[in-house]
Amino acid sequence: MSKRIKVIPCSGMGKVYGLVARESALKVVQELCPNEASTVCLAYIVTGDQEAKELIEGQKCITLDGCPAMCAAKNAELAGGIVAEKVRVIDSFRKHKGAQPGTATELTEEGWLIADEIAGEISEKVKLLSREG
Ligand code: SF4
Repeated sequence: MSKRIKVIPCSGMGKVYGLVARESALKVVQELCPNEASTVCLAYIVTGDQEAKELIEGQKCITLDGCPAMCAAKNAELAGGIVAEKVRVIDSFRKHKGAQPGTATELTEEGWLIADEIAGEISEKVKLLSREG
């Protein structure tokens, strides 16, 4: 089974924060840490899909959530994942007061900058967790 760190964004379809979470996670698994990280679709986890459960049970996960409901963190834990970091997209926005990140379907340049910043922070965490074994 893959020991790669699971980076799991919430689905947050109606909110720009959800889009930022998804884009950040994709950047980590596709560009920054393709050998150390992979992702699992939250919808599969929530619906109890056996394959998704097997992928995260007992595995280190980093979740990204778009709002205080923390859907990714809660469901990764319910499925048996070891959630080592619970990233809240909203916390990153506190460092960018007044930012205009875009909409639920399209990020502005500012939105991409924030997504890239979050991805950079997560990739550092992925590398640390990978070294721990
Ligand atoms: S954490 Fe918030 S934004 Fe993300 S899926 Fe849940 S309710 Fe939607």
